[in-house]
This record gives sequence, C-alpha cells and structure tokens, in this order.
Amino acid sequence: MWKVGMSEDIGRALQSVLEKVHHAAARRPQNLLSVQPRLVAVSKTKPADMVIEAYRHGQRFFGENYVQELLEKASDTNLVSSCPEIKWHFIGHLQKNHINKLAAVPNLHMLETIDSSKLADKVNSSWQKKGLAEKLKVMVQVNTSRECSKHGLPPGDTVGLVKHIMENCPSLQFVGLMTIGSFGYDVTEGINPDFQVLLAQRQEVCEKLGLQVEAMELSMGMSADFEHAIEVGSTNVRIGSTIFGERIYSKDTKGDQTVTDAQDKLGTLSVQGQ
Ligand SMILES: *Cc1c(COP(=O)(O)O)cnc(C)c1O
Repeated sequence: MWKVGMSEDIGRALQSVLEKVHHAAARRPQNLLSVQPRLVAVSKTKPADMVIEAYRHGQRFFGENYVQELLEKASDTNLVSSCPEIKWHFIGHLQKNHINKLAAVPNLHMLETIDSSKLADKVNSSWQKKGLAEKLKVMVQVNTSRECSKHGLPPGDTVGLVKHIMENCPSLQFVGLMTIGSFGYDVTEGINPDFQVLLAQRQEVCEKLGLQVEAMELSMGMSADFEHAIEVGSTNVRIGSTIFGERIYSKDTKGDQTVTDAQDKLGTLSVQGQ
C-alpha cells in the first residue's frame, strides 16, 4: 500500500486544495458569508495510513461513505492513537440497519445524509441511547437534480423534514443542507442549477422556520467543482480524489459487480460487504 513519496504527495495535494479553497472564498461576492469553508477530506477506499498522513499535515475533517469501512478506519488502533482530534463526517446513504453501527463510530462529528423523518427518528433514538450530553450534528440531503437514481429528499419536502428534526429529535442538531447534484455540469454556463436549488432551499427553510441564513450550512462541491461551489456559497466541501488520488475499485468479492465511481457517490452500490 505504502508508496515512497506518498506522504509528500498528500501534503502537497492538501496544501494546494486549501489554497484553492481560500482563494475561492475570497472571490465570493460581498453579500455572501465570509465564513471560511470547511474542507472534508473524503478517504473512502483509501487506507488508514493515508488518513493518518493527512492528519499529520493538519487535516482534521474526514468523510466516508460506508458504515463498515468508517467503523474499521475510525477504530484502527494506530489511527486512534495518532489522530485524537479527528472528526468524521458520514456522507453516504445510510441504511436503517446500520444506524447503531454508525453511532458507535469513535469521533463521529456529522451525519450529512438524513433524507426522511423515519431515518431521523431512528438516528435520534440510537444517539439518545449513548447518553452523551452532545447532540449529533446532522444535515438534510436534498436531491436537487431530482434524478430518481439519487438519494436525498425532493426539494419540496425540505422544510417539513427540518421542522420534524427540530421539533421531534432532541438528540440531533440540525446544521444545514447537503447535495451531491448531477455530474459533469459545465460551470462556464453559470451557476450550477443544483447549487441554486440548495441555496433557494436554505432561503425557504430560514423564512418558514425563522432561522438565520448565516447559521445554516451548505454542503456542496467535490473535486470537480468545489471552487465554483464555494464562490456561490458552499460552507462545506467534500474532496476525495484530488487529495488522495483516483480511487481504484476492485471486483466485489461477493458478486462480480464492479462499483463505479458514479454509483459510489450515489451510494447505490456498496463495497466491503454492506
Ligand atoms: C466520493 C464522494 C465525494 C468525493 O468525490 P471526489 O470527486 O473524489 O472529490 C464527495 N461527496 C460524496 C457524497 C462522495 O460520495
């Protein structure tokens, strides 16, 4: 796994991404929030050693798509002792039978993919059972492109779900909205319509529920479009391949299906026995 030069590669890539993040934030129009976007380094399919390396270079927030893989990485004894301040974001589709496993992940910081009140209720009671004073931070995932292959709730249901979480899930702290969006949008054509939908959703949620726009996060932007996402107001970008290199998917050991990158981002297929 370990290649000579990997450490410098990750360090260099991280530094270059962080510079781009800062520059993109500086290009925002005056009326957009001046808050520095959070970089979530997406380490799915990559070994714990790479996470530790990125942590050594100062990175603290990491994202994973698969509960089993996250649990294994977050419990790795070497990682646990080397990365005491690590903060994990879960960014994949969450199946109900994996909720308790997710709640057991050490240093779980945020769940970005709540997309139904049923799921919210189950996560709430699972987190409640842990008996911690701290609430679990959650985002609501919106299917902004309305593609039926994608997870996330239809934009029209966002206000209802946010209201449900705030009123009925005392162990959850609602912090913002998340979208994946359609792939391959050409940014020279103007603001990505997926990002526009998420911005409009935030506006609507704030107006209807009396919340502050400044206090609500937007998780949008990946390797291909994070600078654009930040320019239009993203506060949380999820970046994988630009930091850790292209992901290589081996054949699923149980079947002979190969998980493609696009399917993986949608969370429609799974690796590692999930
Ligand atoms: C894999 C993944 C990312 C990171 O994708 P890159 O293109 O490698 O930056 C971001 N968000 C989600 C939800 C993902 O599944």
